Amino acid sequence: MTMTTLVTGGAGFLGSHLCDRLIADGNEVLCVDNLYTGSKDNIRHLLDHKHFELLRHNIWLPLHVEVDRIYNLACPASPVHYQNDPVATIKTSVLGSINMLGLAKRRKARILQASTSEVYGDPQVHPQAEDYWGHVNTAGPRACYDEGKRCAETLFFDYHRQNKVDIRVIRIFNTYGPRMHPNDGRVVSNFIVQALQGEPLTLYGDGLQTRSFCYVDDLIEGMLRMMSQDDEIGPINLGNPAEFTIRELAEMVLRLTGSKSKIVFLTLPQDDPLQRRPDISKANSVLQWTPTVELDDGLQRTIAYFRKVLSK
Ligand code: NAD
Ligand code: UDP
Repeated sequence: MTMTTLVTGGAGFLGSHLCDRLIADGNEVLCVDNLYTGSKDNIRHLLDHKHFELLRHNIWLPLHVEVDRIYNLACPASPVHYQNDPVATIKTSVLGSINMLGLAKRRKARILQASTSEVYGDPQVHPQAEDYWGHVNTAGPRACYDEGKRCAETLFFDYHRQNKVDIRVIRIFNTYGPRMHPNDGRVVSNFIVQALQGEPLTLYGDGLQTRSFCYVDDLIEGMLRMMSQDDEIGPINLGNPAEFTIRELAEMVLRLTGSKSKIVFLTLPQDDPLQRRPDISKANSVLQWTPTVELDDGLQRTIAYFRKVLSK
């Protein structure tokens, strides 16, 4: 049976890769995006496909369409962009979730929420498992994103309990790869673009804070597995448990690009989490999922992409 699948945020980094996989798997795809941080370039190759449709729409507003499955990815993900208009960020998470959950309820559609490791905030437990409740500053500059995503999760679980909506909630840890915007502002794209342009790599703080980086193909595979199984609604962590300091990342990017760029140390942004690594035991056992692409390899693929983009 052909499924009609709605992807909100489908013109973004992760959303466009998801659309590719869904189309390749024979789905009818409706991509809904207001192009706030996404771009038509990410999905240009799909625009003429007979099973693909782009609808320019802001999910703060209700949407009445006939779909069987919904992936709710709409939301700026880079701290630079989500802090640019914090009220818009919260509206997207909260009003957007209410609208998409309402649609799922009416259509009896299964709906997946792209939640985030940011629900754990600046964690005091390491690595982070799903039963950790987090350590989040409600009043800080990251709160518009973190608390918006936390409220979205609450809405998902309440619509499930109250209205029997068939939900799936994944918590995505830092994911990178081709189609990140060169001005996205997140660390992997920043460092690669800076290295390729011979500009200094901007390291915030002492660079000893850690992150765990997942290659986009691995993440999308986990997301699809979560959507297609019937037993687990989540939340479930998806990410690569290999943990690196940001300084190590900078050095890897310099080595892999062969760049002569220097590293400059800039102020650490407020509330920047000190360490982050997913415990993915649950994804291992429920989804038989584990990431397969090592950072070295994923960075090389991403560098190749940015070389092409920057040479245009
Ligand atoms: P992205 O910024 O590239 O994509 C977000 C997309 O949502 C963009 O195309 C944007 O235009 C669209 N959008 C934003 N607000 C909208 C609105 N109100 N209505 C309609 N469309 C809107 O970011 P991404 O990295 O692809 O992230 C996708 C999702 O995954 C986000 O929800 C993000 O919070 C989540 N996530 C991503 C990561 C990561 O490392 N990439 C980590 C955790 C969670
Ligand atoms: N960072 C950095 N230089 C940059 C961008 C980010 O040192 O140009 C750091 C940032 O302070 C954080 C880490 O890299 O500690 C990851 O930042 P990113 O914005 O990619 O995602 P986050 O996990 O913080 O949401």
